[in-house]
Amino acid sequence: MDKPIPLAGKALRSFDCKLALWAAKMLFQEIRSHPGSAAAKFRTFLAMRRSSRIYMSKLKPVGFGRSVKMGLYLPHWPSQAMEARVRRALNSNGVHHHEQVMLCTTDECPYKCPHCFNYRKGQRPMPIQRLRELVGEIQQAGGSWICIHGGEPLVDLDRTMAAIAAADGRSEVWLATTGFGLDAGTARELKKAGLFGACVSLHHYKPAEHDAFVGYAGAFEIAVDAVEHFKRANVFVVLNTTLTQERINHGEISKTMELAKDLGAGMVEILFIRPAGRAVVGCDQLLPKGNEQALLEDAMQTFNRDARYQDYPVLLGPPYFEAPDRFGCVAGNERIFISTAGDLQPCAMVNLSVGNVAGESFSAVLDRLRSLLPRPRRELLCTHLQPVVAQRIESSEGLGLPLDPPLSLDMLRQLPRSPSPGAYCR
Ligand code: SF4
Repeated sequence: MDKPIPLAGKALRSFDCKLALWAAKMLFQEIRSHPGSAAAKFRTFLAMRRSSRIYMSKLKPVGFGRSVKMGLYLPHWPSQAMEARVRRALNSNGVHHHEQVMLCTTDECPYKCPHCFNYRKGQRPMPIQRLRELVGEIQQAGGSWICIHGGEPLVDLDRTMAAIAAADGRSEVWLATTGFGLDAGTARELKKAGLFGACVSLHHYKPAEHDAFVGYAGAFEIAVDAVEHFKRANVFVVLNTTLTQERINHGEISKTMELAKDLGAGMVEILFIRPAGRAVVGCDQLLPKGNEQALLEDAMQTFNRDARYQDYPVLLGPPYFEAPDRFGCVAGNERIFISTAGDLQPCAMVNLSVGNVAGESFSAVLDRLRSLLPRPRRELLCTHLQPVVAQRIESSEGLGLPLDPPLSLDMLRQLPRSPSPGAYCR
């Protein structure tokens, strides 16, 4: 059984050195195969080095078997997925299109989380054959990191297994799950099908509080058992924890980290409630409101950079990366989301459909999205669009999520320009 082990001291120095040599080799090979663009590639290489420093400035790499994970959304190194991603980046304009893909296999879920982004009204899942083909098309378009979402993806194991098995080594494949329905055998089968990691939702260190939050008795035990099953099957485990303003301010990031360390998770991802799905209308828990962002950054500094916490899991959170001087909002360019029915959205947290890939060509819908959101933005799309989406939902009886393409495209066309986030300024 491989264990996640944060790198430190000699192991960290050796990793840094090997990674730098490997990156230089990628650059050299790309220049040799396209000699005419050597200067442009070298400039891109320097920009990538700068953004990877920003990315890693409050993280720590974690070893897992013979590979190393640097944060959640980058494939492990060394791997075919990482190599292909770096080669694409060296040949890009600085935006790494469609590298992070969230793909839903079912909308069904027995839980009732108040912040669930997937709150839909009875849409038909795309046929399983289309789902398999789509995974191939996602890989063709980039897709070095694919996360299978739901609903609860384990509720429809056939579709989930089919989606995972359809991917080859060009992608690192993850599962976002509550653990519901998982047993040791299923965890082994998922691993055999190609699963690399699992994000297990565990929103409170107290069992009764977690159960109450997700609306399901016994959910805490289910999640804890799932962590154990995944670990035994050699699946990398991340705990996904949604914290409210009050809980962050009462030091619950530390308590979550203690729990994650005891459970043997490799990382903890702290999530803020974003205005999507169930939380798009009338949610008073949207963050950040005050200093939650700063508290998350302080905790990342402590748990990831302070030697006293070396053996703790890696702590990260999207709000840290989404700061305007870092990576901002990558919805619709680096990140895409595809619902169970095939609606392609810029992000799980933006309930707008730019087209349905069950019936339309995936590349045509991607091109449409790319023309509307060609680059990352400083302004967060989910927060910016929330008042308009909420108003549409409230004023129209029976209007479901995501909003239909004509309405969605109109909203995206009317977006004001937003400057590039710091990590993309060249
Ligand atoms: S819309 Fe942008 S800021 Fe909001 S969750 Fe998605 S990527 Fe992050």
